Amino acid sequence: MPSPKRPIPPDARELLFGDLWEYDPAPESAPAFIEPRYGLFINGKFVAPKTRNYFDSISPRNEEKLSEIAVAGAADVDAAYQSAATAFTSWSKLPGTERAKYLFRIARLLQDRAREFAVAETLDGGKPIKESRDFDVPMAAAHFFYHAGWADKLGYVTPGRTLAPLGVIGQIIPWNFPLLMLAWKLAPALATGNTVVLKPAETTSITALKFASILQDAGLPPGVVNIVTGAGETGAAVVNHPLAAKIAFTGSTEVGKSIQRALAGTAKRLTLELGGKAANIVLEDAPLDQAVEGVINGIFFNQGHVCCAGSRLLVQESIADKVLSKLKIRLKSLRTGDPLDKNTDVGAINSQAQLDRIRELVACGVAEGADLYQAASKLPAKGFYFPPTLFSNVAMSHRIARDEIFGPVLSILTFRTPEEAVEKANNTCYGLSAGVWTDKGSRILKMSTELKAGVVWANSFNKFDPASPFGGYKESGFGREGGKQGLLDYANLI
Ligand code: ADP
Repeated sequence: MPSPKRPIPPDARELLFGDLWEYDPAPESAPAFIEPRYGLFINGKFVAPKTRNYFDSISPRNEEKLSEIAVAGAADVDAAYQSAATAFTSWSKLPGTERAKYLFRIARLLQDRAREFAVAETLDGGKPIKESRDFDVPMAAAHFFYHAGWADKLGYVTPGRTLAPLGVIGQIIPWNFPLLMLAWKLAPALATGNTVVLKPAETTSITALKFASILQDAGLPPGVVNIVTGAGETGAAVVNHPLAAKIAFTGSTEVGKSIQRALAGTAKRLTLELGGKAANIVLEDAPLDQAVEGVINGIFFNQGHVCCAGSRLLVQESIADKVLSKLKIRLKSLRTGDPLDKNTDVGAINSQAQLDRIRELVACGVAEGADLYQAASKLPAKGFYFPPTLFSNVAMSHRIARDEIFGPVLSILTFRTPEEAVEKANNTCYGLSAGVWTDKGSRILKMSTELKAGVVWANSFNKFDPASPFGGYKESGFGREGGKQGLLDYANLI
């Protein structure tokens, strides 16, 4: 071990962390218990779709088929809404203490099966097992625990008023955090007395369908939660159903806008959590090693499939070279590959379509003149993989500085003054998140009020808590998930 007092020279660090280390495979071996075929979960049980159609769900890890998933048509979606509307009459009248018991039970059952769900999530979506094990599944359980605590205290959310449920909620979730997004959506809706028709994303339906068995084991009354699977057409049927009192959508800005257009002129409530292009700002007085870790986590967590990813690094010009060389060294120690391996840092890209989009935008970055850096890595022959990538010398006009890539690609820009950093950070159509790294508390307070983003992390990034509301500004959407604010989006104040 080198002495902690003597810094390791950069070249030696490259050797230590980059070229010499070989890891033995350390695959997670717990079974995922995935059924060969899943029907739709309507009125408390699995039923075959009226369409009689199924599609294959493959693992992005190796392109092998995992299961067959039902395609819900308009008649199936209608059956789900009818069942949710019937269940609403009794669920909405249950005392909060009783609803809380179900939510606690669901949280505990999920904890009991945490390992199985983590493996299923990794197989289905491609994220590293250490993330699904240590983040997605525990955080999903935490959301049910947190909202169980609110169910009997709705009279205290806003003093003098209480929260009344809206009715049947249509919920559409994306593929980047399948189980966690399900928990973000279901837990507050159920705590406030609503019933639900939920549609998972077509590439990642499996953990939602497995979750249906937890609902059964928890004894949740039939119809309180219904799960319909399929692609955009099924989603549109969920959005347009007349029984929907509210649509809660997380996904792309493009689809979010089309949903907003579809709901215009109706009485349906809407919350949208859409794309982002977050700035992670590193000032010259920042603790640089922590900042570099935060920047790496900010963009490479979940392969960059994160709407609040810190995909634009804004670094002060005086420290830009130093930060870039530290980032390059750190990139060499990231392990990209089999997501089921416990040592993997960057797993598989969720789908071929997403891989194609990342490749297209990276090619565009090169063509527009930015400098690309990728550490040498051996990617698996089968499956969808993309190496962690840095782009330096990026200009605000480049597509890689403006478009959401939703992949492991960081665009690095520089600034001279904090004012310029804020201006560049806000120069985007999005406004979901931002990060500020500095030693000065007063600067954090000033910049975080100037940044037009729903969440601003200070000397940290990608930190989440069920009590902390999350949501966007501008084209990143509106409405909040989590905390008291999230409850208000599922209720009428009376
Ligand atoms: P991405 O482009 O990242 O895949 P999408 O916005 O297309 O994100 O997908 C997010 C969710 O929205 C998925 O569950 C998807 O099936 C659903 N979806 C796609 N198109 C529509 C639509 N027109 N109406 C409602 N939901 C849709």
